Amino acid sequence: MVNEFPQALSIAGSDSGGGAGMQADLKTMQMRHVFATTVLVAITAQNTLGVQDSMPLPPAMIDAQFASLNDDLQIRACKTGMLADVPTVECVVANLQKYDFGPVIVDPVMIAKGGAPLLADDAIEIVKKRLLPLATLITPNLPEAERLTGMQVESKEEMVTVGHRLQDLGAKNVLVKGGHFDQSGLAQDFVLLDNDESFWMTSPRFDTIRTHGTGDTISACITAELAKGVPLETAIRTGKAYVTATIRDGIEVGHGHGPLNHWA
Ligand code: PLP
Repeated sequence: MVNEFPQALSIAGSDSGGGAGMQADLKTMQMRHVFATTVLVAITAQNTLGVQDSMPLPPAMIDAQFASLNDDLQIRACKTGMLADVPTVECVVANLQKYDFGPVIVDPVMIAKGGAPLLADDAIEIVKKRLLPLATLITPNLPEAERLTGMQVESKEEMVTVGHRLQDLGAKNVLVKGGHFDQSGLAQDFVLLDNDESFWMTSPRFDTIRTHGTGDTISACITAELAKGVPLETAIRTGKAYVTATIRDGIEVGHGHGPLNHWA
């Protein structure tokens, strides 16, 4: 059937530099052989050196994009990325409640690696109270997990605890990304599923600054796999393998935190 090619949705901000945000989502979904659709919620003027400017889009324009997709496409999985501010988070939550775009992957983007805020401080509470309960899977890094739960995470035991806290906040499944830990040359992530099963995923830590867009990429890959009907655990493992390869085989673009290599 014409309409049955796997279709996924990225609800995110753009990165003019092409390395993170919606651009990373599009590149990832394309590489995973999934048709990528988008709801753009904010624009950033950005390159590998940092974010120079950003602007959220009006909620009415965000509503219009959701309505257009709902009227025509058959989206089987969606993800959220940069959500900018309170009106944007409220608008995205309302649309996710209104339409069924399949499993919802929430990447609770807060601060870019260069330090630029991508979510207003006063929006964190709404993400926690209203977006998390809609999440099939939440994919925080450690600083994001700490902000959402108010607990400090400094050990593997605390990664497990924070995973359970995030589940208590309403996220069905949790992927806590341990990339910010500097432990024994490994990047270790903790996964807690809604059937109470859990597992660790480990990859080598590469000595590189070409890590711009890693969070977007792993969550986009998981979303793409879910759109194809792949079970969640397999999708998460595929996401980890995909992002590991894109970091390992970095490409020379820009003068700062370089982008990933999606052809890896
Ligand atoms: N810019 C946008 C629009 C993003 O959505 C993100 C991450 O989600 C970033 C920048 C940050 O990317 P990184 O922290 O990997 O450099």
